[in-house]
Amino acid sequence: MIVAHTLQEFLQSRSQLQNHSVALVPTMGALHEGHIAVIKKAKELSHYCIVTIFVNQLQFDQLDDYLRYPKTEENDIRLLEKNQVDLVWLPKAHDIYSKNFCTRIVIEGPALNWEGAVRKGHFSGVATLVNRLFSLIKPTIACFGEKDWQQLQVIKRMVEDLNIPVTIFGVPIVREKNGLAKSSRNKFLTPDEHEKASLLYKTLQNSYKKIQNNQNISKVLEEAVQTLESEGFKVDYYAAVNSNTMTELRKWCQDGRLIAAAKLGSVRLIDNM
Ligand code: AMP
Repeated sequence: MIVAHTLQEFLQSRSQLQNHSVALVPTMGALHEGHIAVIKKAKELSHYCIVTIFVNQLQFDQLDDYLRYPKTEENDIRLLEKNQVDLVWLPKAHDIYSKNFCTRIVIEGPALNWEGAVRKGHFSGVATLVNRLFSLIKPTIACFGEKDWQQLQVIKRMVEDLNIPVTIFGVPIVREKNGLAKSSRNKFLTPDEHEKASLLYKTLQNSYKKIQNNQNISKVLEEAVQTLESEGFKVDYYAAVNSNTMTELRKWCQDGRLIAAAKLGSVRLIDNM
């Protein structure tokens, strides 16, 4: 596995991966089994696999969240090596955004609500980075986790709207034993919170069953929020949406998806099913 730091090192290594398909998996590091599942899928679908590790300040709406984002570089590199990644790039901000960089991608449609409404500028930051990575790395495909379901729809929209020649694949959510979606931020949960955090997924499962039994959606969603808040969660949103457009559903349909975000203690959790 080649480890590149600077843009120059990266471009030089990238030029050695020619004549075959290249998959990109963008990450912010602090890697866990969720990331590894995305990498495994990327390797299955492509000849070469490139992983980036970059904590993109542009997508954080809270400075303290950015500053405390976990960094486990040595461990990440070991894990990537073990999983036979071909090239990992750990750029610095100036490798991605040059001194005079002032272009932003702004996406409407699927980016407007939910994460987009709660975390102002978040999707613009994500899209600006991902577009930049696509133009520097020129991958054939790129893989993203379904844990960030809305992000996956936003990226697909951008690729289609801007005719970017990359095929996007989603990879199912990897969960901990108790059902909690794996996340780099889970390490900030106390043991008690960690146990309680699984209630988010259990509540989604419960709501889904009720909806399948034709119960009224608004009532089901309202009950779910009450359950979570009575257990100490601070719910940002809990909704039924069209899986692609991310518009709110009043009536369930085949394309329906339940999405949720809530804070437990100091940790913000997101999940969907
Ligand atoms: P991050 O490092 O949090 O930006 O995540 C990098 C990629 O891994 C994103 O496409 C995430 O959606 C994906 N990912 C993170 N956690 C999980 C998980 N538990 N299951 C599946 N994919 C995940």
